[in-house]
Amino acid sequence: MIVMKFGGSSLANEARIRHVAELVKPELPRKPVLVVSALGDTTDHLLEAAVTALETGIVSIEGITALHKHTIQELNIDVPKIMPLLAELQILLVGISLVKELTGKTKDYLVSFGERLAARIVAAYCQSAGIEATALDAWEGGFVSDSHFTAAELVPESWDLIPAKILPLIDAGILPVLTGFIAQDRQGAITTLGRGGSDLSATMIAAACKAEEVQIWKDVDGILTADPRIVPEAWPVEAVTYEEAAELAYFGAQVLHPRAMQPCMRTKTPVWIKNSYNPQARGTQIVARLEKKRPVLGITSRNQITLVDIVSTRMLGQPGFLAELFADFAKYGISVDMVATSEVSVSLTLDAAYDLDLLKKDLSRIADVEIKAGKAIVTIIGDVDKSSEILQQAFGVCAALGIPVQMVSHGASKVNISFIVNDTQSVEVVQGLHKHFFGAPILEGRTTCI
Ligand code: ASP
Ligand code: MG
Repeated sequence: MIVMKFGGSSLANEARIRHVAELVKPELPRKPVLVVSALGDTTDHLLEAAVTALETGIVSIEGITALHKHTIQELNIDVPKIMPLLAELQILLVGISLVKELTGKTKDYLVSFGERLAARIVAAYCQSAGIEATALDAWEGGFVSDSHFTAAELVPESWDLIPAKILPLIDAGILPVLTGFIAQDRQGAITTLGRGGSDLSATMIAAACKAEEVQIWKDVDGILTADPRIVPEAWPVEAVTYEEAAELAYFGAQVLHPRAMQPCMRTKTPVWIKNSYNPQARGTQIVARLEKKRPVLGITSRNQITLVDIVSTRMLGQPGFLAELFADFAKYGISVDMVATSEVSVSLTLDAAYDLDLLKKDLSRIADVEIKAGKAIVTIIGDVDKSSEILQQAFGVCAALGIPVQMVSHGASKVNISFIVNDTQSVEVVQGLHKHFFGAPILEGRTTCI
């Protein structure tokens, strides 16, 4: 069997849904399982509706209702099951407007309607196109998670529950169409796996059911060497390893859910990133190991980063100083990204979204603290064995541009080299690095070896 996952942009309207069925048909002999996201930007619209209900007391699902009803009408199908869902959604929003409370638990219940509507519509359309299909909510497909609402993790039992639910359908020649992104905790409350989580749903099914491969259908030609909005000549890489894909996902490439590689990494199931708007394009293959690597694979950046510089002579040879320091970050729920230390100083980076006043006050008791906003992390994903050359060349590029590098972090075994620049300069740095490392597309290069 194989798993085919379609994201919101691949399901944005009736024409895209027809196209999905066309992509599925030739794969039927390989026994596909479909995983779907919410249609278009429905997840965002649901969250907006919740904020409106919370802040103004106005409950409006007209836009969401219109999109789904119009799609059904244009597809010329009958999906009676969506009416109770829309009614339940309306009641939930009324509840939010009355209670004036929007917890993570409520948010997850709310956004789940997007995927649940989508799965029913896609299954009904496949059925009308002559494919025997059935819609399943994630929990009917064995997805059980912890209760960490808005960012839940699947529990270990899911590894057995998922194949137990899905494989009998496959054996009966039925196409299961599952909701991505959502799950249920052990108490039966609806959870989500974090934004973009349907990638993880797809890789989890594939790994747990020992599928031959996963196809993740997006609206780009694969994983690109850089963000095309910054580097228009960025080109899709042929193949990456799971680790590289995870790094690229985390550091801004935004092609994949950051945790999506974990299940397939465990089972070595190959993953393909394909473009539903351009299915002829080869796409990017993600595998366990690659022979013959290019030294640099991709360049990403993240803006709105804050750099915190902490200097204290107390740090010199004092056990427990760093523990004390990081305990303060933990106390305020602040997640740290990059860290660099010397004998008397620690520099670290965090997302600009945090309020640092209290933290600064606490830390000032043990050290001098300087907070510098307006920074960007530039990350080069590359071959760690070539790191000296990569660093030398990258700093050469920055020096030639006259841009000072303010902090560097480079793990011993990891495939990423990250450094900090002012965020006004990050575009120039990424473009300069891309030109240097990828001057002209080299299309041979990476051969795959699974
Ligand atoms: N619909 C959800 C989101 O927009 C999940 C997904 O697309 O994977 O985040
Ligand atoms: Mg989406």
